[in-house]
Amino acid sequence: MIIFVPLKQKQIMEDNNSAKNESISGEAKSLNFIEQIIEEDISKGKNESRVHTRFPPEPNGYLHIGHAKSICLNFGLAKKYGGKCNLRFDDTNPTKEDVEYVDSIKEDVKWLGFNWDGEYYASDYFETLYGYAMKLIAKGKAYVCDMTQEEIGANRGTITKPGVESPFRNRSIEENTGLFRRMRNGEFADGAKVLRAKIDMASTNMLMRDPILYRILHAEHHRTGNDWCIYPMYDFAHGQCDSIERITHSICTLEFEVHRPLYEWFIRELEIYAPQQIEFARLNVNYTVMSKRKLLQLVQEKLVSGWDDPRMPTICGLRRRGYTPEALQNFAEVIGVAKRDNVIDVSLLEYCLREDLNKKARRVMAVVNPVKLVLTNYPEDKTEEMDAVNNPENPEAGMRKVPFTRELFIEQEDFMEVPAHKYFRLYPGNEVRLKYAYIIRCEKVIKDEAGRIKEIHCTYDANTRSGMPDSNRKVKATIHWVSAAHAVEAEARLYDKLFLKENPEEVAEGEDFKSNLNPDSLRVKPCFAEPSVKNLKKGDKVQFERVGYFCVDADSTENRIIFNRTVGLKGSWQPAK
Ligand code: ATP
Ligand code: MG
Repeated sequence: MIIFVPLKQKQIMEDNNSAKNESISGEAKSLNFIEQIIEEDISKGKNESRVHTRFPPEPNGYLHIGHAKSICLNFGLAKKYGGKCNLRFDDTNPTKEDVEYVDSIKEDVKWLGFNWDGEYYASDYFETLYGYAMKLIAKGKAYVCDMTQEEIGANRGTITKPGVESPFRNRSIEENTGLFRRMRNGEFADGAKVLRAKIDMASTNMLMRDPILYRILHAEHHRTGNDWCIYPMYDFAHGQCDSIERITHSICTLEFEVHRPLYEWFIRELEIYAPQQIEFARLNVNYTVMSKRKLLQLVQEKLVSGWDDPRMPTICGLRRRGYTPEALQNFAEVIGVAKRDNVIDVSLLEYCLREDLNKKARRVMAVVNPVKLVLTNYPEDKTEEMDAVNNPENPEAGMRKVPFTRELFIEQEDFMEVPAHKYFRLYPGNEVRLKYAYIIRCEKVIKDEAGRIKEIHCTYDANTRSGMPDSNRKVKATIHWVSAAHAVEAEARLYDKLFLKENPEEVAEGEDFKSNLNPDSLRVKPCFAEPSVKNLKKGDKVQFERVGYFCVDADSTENRIIFNRTVGLKGSWQPAK
């Protein structure tokens, strides 16, 4: 299989895929840097040559395309090396998390085509983590601090100035053990105390300056209910969860590089199994935002219809828009794994989608901006059944019949009363072919009182239908059509980019990313489609010939089909080999 690489993207990919870059041509794909590490570990027999990865989302929102990259990477590596991949919910923030998100995450991972080997929750390990904290206390490596989080922050110092040691830093092991137990027992109010690691207030790595391990939070957790009123911080939970699950390669995004010394410090001090943390650059795509917090704002402020609004970069939004798992997997593969941050052009994503839909989507004829066309020499009561190809890319998709009558709808832009230079479609006196049917000639334009075009009158040449003597006669353009009497009226939702700027974060002072929202990101139009669309089900994907790829939206009813435009037929990429 040849995967075409959009030119602009080539440099990034050469950076991402190490060594010689024949990678994209399929066969001679060189290893990315993570695969290199893994293969070296396997060859050395490290971890008994096991490969065990995990995907560790926090259930505080819906997954987005950045997560899709991480999912494909983690599950993909496990698959490639005959290993395992866990799904682990990093649920240590009870106030922001919810089962709704847990369910959506599972649905999205499955839909992307992956099955996890184990389903785990950081909250399953709360007791173990508590024991780990006690162990650090017992080693004199952790202490209960009575300062507020603000005071702790203020005393942390700066990169150039060491922090100030907490006055509680030298509490005895006995006192710390007792206080921490009482923290757990609910004897203190939120924020009254925290547990901190005792590391180094002068470390050049700010995260090593006695980081907080536990905070008091009297909040109900979506899984553990009110069992706990102390919750571990991300840094204290994450690596230990990896260790408990005996993850071999803990793959995360670059912002965790500075956390790695702390990750390793915990593992070392706790004397537990040591996974290896490896960082790669997070995926950024232009014209969108990719943080759950920001996406949540769009949802809460009703700037989109929900997490699955087809304009959202969420996996459920992309799914509703008509994306396929294969398109997203291919995208993840093509962009590779980078060590440096970069921004991927959204048209590369769309390119991957078209490649897949072109093979899969059945063709239908539908008109989005209709104008009436009358064949004045065609009998009024006649209907012919034209043979149409379901998918020229896939002979197995077969053929269908499309009814043809005297009155048709065609696209407004396929007609010009006064043709522009090099315009070969319909204009008075000109001939075009109606796809799967006859050559017609435009004879006359009928207008209403306001001067708007009401009907285009044409004549047809009966000898030009397939199988007839002049069927091979050439004209310069072929246009699509729908029989007016048979047309199914549907709703077309035409989507455009959600943001006007490539980088939505680029804003004037006092504004935020929402000021860059594209006011025309959704246009709703009636459209007319051939009758075969009545058989489509929600989620089905089709190509409106010459118009674009569409899918049937979940809002469709018995009486009205709603089509989402997934992507147009042409993008800005010029595929290069
Ligand atoms: P966000 O900032 O969007 O809220 P997050 O990193 O907080 O994302 P998590 O639920 O913690 O979201 O992420 C789960 C996994 O997905 C992590 O391993 C994280 O590194 C990875 N991930 C998140 N965003 C991206 C991205 N844009 N590109 C690649 N991986 C990502
Ligand atoms: Mg996070």
